Amino acid sequence: MVYSQFVDGVLTTGSKRESWLNYNPANNNPLGEVFQANDQDIEAAVNSSEKAFHIWRTKTGAERGRVLLKAADILRSRLEKIASLETQDVGKPISESLAVDISSAADAMEYFGGMAAGIHGEFFDLKNAFGYTRPEPLGVCAGIGAWNYPIQIAAWKAAPALACGNSMIFKPSELTPATALELAKAFMEAGAPPGLFNVVQGDGRVGGMLVNHPRIAKISLTGSVSTGKKIFAGAAAHLKRVTLELGGKSPLIVFEDADIHNAVSATLLANFYSQGEVCSNGTRVFVHRQIFDSFLMKLKDRTEKIRVGDPADPDTQMGALISKAHMEKIIRFIESGKSSGATLVTGGFRPEKDFKGRDITSGNFLTPAIFTDCDDSMEICKEEIFGPVLSILCFDSEEEVIERANNTSFGLAAGVFTNDIKRGHRVIHQLQAGTCWINNYNITPIELPFGGNKQSGQGRENSLAAIQHYTQLKSVYVELGDVESPY
Ligand code: NDP
Repeated sequence: MVYSQFVDGVLTTGSKRESWLNYNPANNNPLGEVFQANDQDIEAAVNSSEKAFHIWRTKTGAERGRVLLKAADILRSRLEKIASLETQDVGKPISESLAVDISSAADAMEYFGGMAAGIHGEFFDLKNAFGYTRPEPLGVCAGIGAWNYPIQIAAWKAAPALACGNSMIFKPSELTPATALELAKAFMEAGAPPGLFNVVQGDGRVGGMLVNHPRIAKISLTGSVSTGKKIFAGAAAHLKRVTLELGGKSPLIVFEDADIHNAVSATLLANFYSQGEVCSNGTRVFVHRQIFDSFLMKLKDRTEKIRVGDPADPDTQMGALISKAHMEKIIRFIESGKSSGATLVTGGFRPEKDFKGRDITSGNFLTPAIFTDCDDSMEICKEEIFGPVLSILCFDSEEEVIERANNTSFGLAAGVFTNDIKRGHRVIHQLQAGTCWINNYNITPIELPFGGNKQSGQGRENSLAAIQHYTQLKSVYVELGDVESPY
């Protein structure tokens, strides 16, 4: 199989000078060959996207919305096929791809498709005059994606960009080239002009070409903090707009009055969904001393029941990590935790058999890991691990836990479990994070803004907030009287 580019409405292998193999994380067998876009391919993609932009920007919001809504229907009608591609590419359980990834992409297209006709400016009544604003599209935007939620990331960027009248060139992660192409096909079949959503394949060099291209107006990245800094610096040279959805090391605080069953359920969701490869994960779990032992016992018990195995099996609850290299990086973090004095309570090893007794030694599998006896200064409690590893930290007072939770350069997400409504809000208001939950974790409805503070990002995705990141305001003054001139 060949993973093509999708430019000007057609699948193409581009100039075809350099290629690599894409592997299935569940067994490390090759899935197909991916061709790296070069500067000519990028030029062709920009030319095609500019052409599409000039057609698309003249459409009414309702016309644009209809295309987005139709594309969402197409995605939903192909749910099983696209979910299976995503599971093969990413290694996540098919139960997750079926329930979340594709529908979350379609939700974004329905939300922004429905809203497209309602994007409007403001009116200002002035003395003998009036004024109004027009939110105008930016032009050709570029989206650069991470590998953990490939189609969701592509749609979270494309839907608001297109609803606002822009076109988009999207570069998926080199590790997950498949499903952005399915999104591109859906837009075309829904009636989008060729080039409205182009896909170019390649590694960070291709991302760099998009960042540095003078005719690309905006970059939206989902990726790590270090890539975010490079892109911010590259975009600054052109004064380009950026949206950065970056990494985190988020706190999840469980107070002594919390519903422990729910808090344990959320801790599992906050750490082990998608093999723990989720940016907003609550990997620093602060538990009040009074409930520490019973919380840990329940958490360990339920963690050990998680069914690790073949991602294509509908009964699997945890699949394979994205690559061997990533798995090895996580194992190094686990070793670092052990050598710094933390206790590995469970997991953190490579299983030989899955929950149905199948040999899984050829895949990138790790059992979910819990560390206790942790100290805030340990590497495992400071660095983003991006795998199924959580640290439990004990605390005594509200003031203490707020200070410790905020003692990080990240600021993506935070969660609080308490049945005291006043404390819930009081604590959340003091946490330095962009996306927060009280009595749940990692729920990301399209209606709510999503994004990070501090080094976890710039700008917001989803919700009405995304519109301002894909439009620029034009102010228009209209004179109703004579021009008063001193000359
Ligand atoms: P990376 O930062 O390594 O890569 C992200 C994307 O940027 C990839 O497509 C990558 O290309 C590309 N890229 C790399 N270098 C450059 C460059 N110099 N210029 C332009 N583009 C570049 O992240 P991962 O893919 O490893 O994803 C994991 C990270 O993403 C984690 O830190 C995670 O927290 C974060 N993330 C954040 C989310 C959020 O919404 N806040 C959601 C999901 C993940 P390639 O990899 O193909 O070389």
